Amino acid sequence: MIYKDNLLVILGSELEVNCNKGSYHIVAYFPSVDNIERFSNYVSKYIKNINLSSQKVNVDILKILQIVSKLNGILIPAHIFTPFKGIYGRCTKSIKSLVGEYIFKEIPAVELGLSGDTFLASLIKELDEKTLLSNSDAHSLPKIGREYNVFKLENLSYESFVNSLFKKGNNRVLANYGLNPKLGKYHRSYCLDCKKASKKNLLLKNVIFQIHIM
Ligand SMILES: [Zn+2]
Repeated sequence: MIYKDNLLVILGSELEVNCNKGSYHIVAYFPSVDNIERFSNYVSKYIKNINLSSQKVNVDILKILQIVSKLNGILIPAHIFTPFKGIYGRCTKSIKSLVGEYIFKEIPAVELGLSGDTFLASLIKELDEKTLLSNSDAHSLPKIGREYNVFKLENLSYESFVNSLFKKGNNRVLANYGLNPKLGKYHRSYCLDCKKASKKNLLLKNVIFQIHIM
C-alpha cells in the first residue's frame, strides 16, 4: 500500500515452521491489509497465540505457500544463517533438498540476517539464482532500518517489489547494506584445518571466515 503518495509500505508477517531437526523462520509479504488479514485469520487456527511475534504455525510449508500464493503473497526464508531459527543454521545444508524443487522455485529471495552478508551467501551455490535481502529483522521500532536494501523499481508498487525479487523487467535489488557479519551475534570463524569454530581462529591467518552451518 502507498502512504501519502510516496512511501510504499510492504505488509509482512514472520512465522515459524517445523523442520526435521527443529524449526525455522519465514517471512510472508502481502499486497494489502485485506490479504494479510485473511492470511492472519487462516494461520491463527494453527498458532497458540497469534498476538505474539514469530509464532510457530503447525502447518506444512507447502500448505502455507499455497495460501500465501492464493492471496498474492510471496514467501522467503528469514535470517537464513541464524543457528536457532534460520533455515541453514538449524535445518539443512540445502534449502532445495529440504523444501523440494517446487517450493524452492517459488521462493524468490532469502533474508541474510545480521550475522550474514552477500559474500557469505555467494559461497552457497544454490543461492546463485536468488535475490539477497538485508532486512533489519526488527521486532521493535528502533531496530527498523538497521539493515536495508536499495531497490530499482519500475513503479512504486507491490507488484514491482515482487518483480524485483524475481528479477523481472527492470526491477532489481541494487545493493544491500548491513552490519559487518563479524559483529553479528551468531557469526563465528571456522577453521577448515582443525574443523573448529573459535574466537582464537579470528586472530589466525589463512582462516576462512564463514558462517558455521550445522
Ligand atoms: Zn525470526
